[in-house]
Amino acid sequence: MGLVQPEAPRTRSVRALSDGAGGPEDAAGTSPGDRGKESRMEEGSRTEISEEEWKRRLTPEQYAVCRQKATEPPFSGRLLYNKEEGTYSCVACKAVLFESSTKFDSGTGWPSFFQPVSPDAVREEPDYSHGMVRTEVVCARCGSHLGHVFPDGPEPTGLRYCINSIALEFQPAREGS
Ligand SMILES: [Zn+2]
Repeated sequence: MGLVQPEAPRTRSVRALSDGAGGPEDAAGTSPGDRGKESRMEEGSRTEISEEEWKRRLTPEQYAVCRQKATEPPFSGRLLYNKEEGTYSCVACKAVLFESSTKFDSGTGWPSFFQPVSPDAVREEPDYSHGMVRTEVVCARCGSHLGHVFPDGPEPTGLRYCINSIALEFQPAREGS
């Protein structure tokens, strides 16, 4: 039995040349099945920051909520009774998360919204801590913990995004716009 010759290196360069000349893929275009995959771009827009850096950027209270999933005491947050028009951003990365037009008084002691500013502004993940089954809400951009979402909100969504005041930053809407 003779040894099989390994493939000669020049085979690769020949292939590369023929690929550049417009193969069948160029003519047929991308198949419809591949298009769905491209819509999941969250990896590319995520912010990667070390825990040490988060500790420097955030106050100890913000760090406990945003990075360690603590919950602020009810009725303690400065944005709970805020009824001004404007937007609410992630305190950690400044991504816009909620609008004042979706804020409502839930009576729970935490700022509550019936929907995020866009479906991909936040990520929802199952949370089995404290002997409960809840849905955690995190900032889609930086992964910071924001609060939880419950299915007992008002119309039109029926959802209640129960968000820690300390995880949010408020920007008033511009006068006269
Ligand atoms: Zn964020």
